[in-house]
Amino acid sequence: MLINLKPTADTNSVKQTLTGFGLWLETLLDQDGAATGFIVKGYSTPVDPQKIASLDGVSGVFKTESSHPKVDARCHQVIDLGELQFRTTTPTLIAGPCSVDSEERIESIASQVAQAGGKVLRGGAYKPRTSPYSFAGFGKPALQWMRRAADRHGLRIVTEVMSEHDVNTVADMTDIVQVGSRNMQNFALLRQVGEARKCVLLKRGRSATVSEWLMAAEYLYASGADSVLFCERGIRGFDGETRNLIDLGAVALLSHHYGLPVIVDPSHAAGRRDLIVPLSKASIAAGAVGVMVEVHPAPSTALSDGPQALSYETLRQLSKSLELECIQ
Ligand code: PEP
Ligand code: MN
Repeated sequence: MLINLKPTADTNSVKQTLTGFGLWLETLLDQDGAATGFIVKGYSTPVDPQKIASLDGVSGVFKTESSHPKVDARCHQVIDLGELQFRTTTPTLIAGPCSVDSEERIESIASQVAQAGGKVLRGGAYKPRTSPYSFAGFGKPALQWMRRAADRHGLRIVTEVMSEHDVNTVADMTDIVQVGSRNMQNFALLRQVGEARKCVLLKRGRSATVSEWLMAAEYLYASGADSVLFCERGIRGFDGETRNLIDLGAVALLSHHYGLPVIVDPSHAAGRRDLIVPLSKASIAAGAVGVMVEVHPAPSTALSDGPQALSYETLRQLSKSLELECIQ
């Protein structure tokens, strides 16, 4: 919001009144250093603009245009996929392997995820890998294995799409389409994914600001996405002790200030399984509606990201610590 002052205004007195209303202000000055108005910061207490406009010394109050109106329109709405709703009151557990490596294994993992109270099965069929020589996923067959396993255990699926060419195939097979961190600003892909009109899990780019993340979601909504779940998966830090730096400030900001649904992926944030339980609890405390974790029956043989995969035993511990309803 922008508040303009009359040339005759007593700037200090108007500022004092506005600050008293709970507004945080940035003063706008002309070339001679005289105050011409105020920009109201987004974290201010909401105040009726009429009340501000009627103050002595105020010449006008203007709502500044948001650069992401379609995202704003979704603030404080619950993402509802039928019997699965993403709410801060009941955390949603999303779990599965980094990459889907065989039909038997995804079946076993799906069964464990369901028993642990998980609602969504994750798993990569198309894997973004830093090296072109690393295993890059089994593609369409992996999607089919995953779909069958998820259906047998009453789970939803989230899986990543990397290429515009695969959007329709992936969208047909999955409940939630994942856009990975490396593709957060692949605008052509975002448009194509939006056109599939699905729920999208939008991972934050490793070096993306919150505002760039919101704009990526705006692309999805502008092209027709049904709903967007924001996924914080750690940003590039300077300390190699953890794989990435988990930004819980951004989680709290999106959840509490914007009222947007955030999932935290502590697996890619930490890169090590021993930190997944505490980071998951911290994420929920910060306002996340759920966590997405990697799990594998034999992490040392996983085709990707073994060091951060939870064993079945730790998956159950995680579920207990989030107070989920488990099937014994
Ligand atoms: C993943 O979730 O499988 C993945 C590759 O994550 P990210 O895009 O966060 O690296
Ligand atoms: Mn992974």
